[in-house]
Amino acid sequence: MTEKALRQQIIDACLRMNALGINQGTSGNISARVRGGLLITPSGVPYEALKPADIVKMGLDGAWSGRLAPSSEWRFHVDIMAAKPEVGAVVHTHSAFATTIACLRRPIPAVHYMVAVAGGDSIPCADYATFGTQALSDNAIAALRDRTACLLANHGVIATGAGVDKALALAVEVETLARIYWQALQAGTPTILGPDEMARVVNKFQSYGRQPAHDG
Ligand code: 13P
Ligand code: ZN
Repeated sequence: MTEKALRQQIIDACLRMNALGINQGTSGNISARVRGGLLITPSGVPYEALKPADIVKMGLDGAWSGRLAPSSEWRFHVDIMAAKPEVGAVVHTHSAFATTIACLRRPIPAVHYMVAVAGGDSIPCADYATFGTQALSDNAIAALRDRTACLLANHGVIATGAGVDKALALAVEVETLARIYWQALQAGTPTILGPDEMARVVNKFQSYGRQPAHDG
């Protein structure tokens, strides 16, 4: 994919996350890896107004140049890219149900087997720190150890993936799981799946969706 196409893919994903109802306004931000750094949404610019040239290019050292400043959360985008070579894109949203659980400063436990989609038996909640700070990035990196997504206390969600579409799909899944958890809590006491079962599911996910090759 050309860099211009990747810039457009980031814009399309921003518009989509708001249209899907998993983010609102200029909240949230998206980045994608490029050689030597990343492309990231500018800070506080309405997504409808974004042109490919407005997406900011940054080095993994945090350096950037140009007319628009990068997202205030560039620190965790850069730190995730640096810490996790398998990650090609990072999506941050303020989706309502996941943020509700994050306001309770609780993880999403294994209330449904799909929790394993984030790599383990819970989707952790990173400790609170002020938005845009290195402390928030440090807390996010700790929560994302062995996980592909986490909640941010009193704030929102981070979802990662090999590419923008995968990271966005994970953000949607985290929101769905948070809604299921919330609804189950309203109706009663959900049964949480145990670590052995969740280890089995995590293992099955290694091969899930891989179809045998067909020869026409
Ligand atoms: P930016 O507009 O700077 O990306 O900030 C949005 C946000 O979600 C901060 O946490
Ligand atoms: Zn945010």
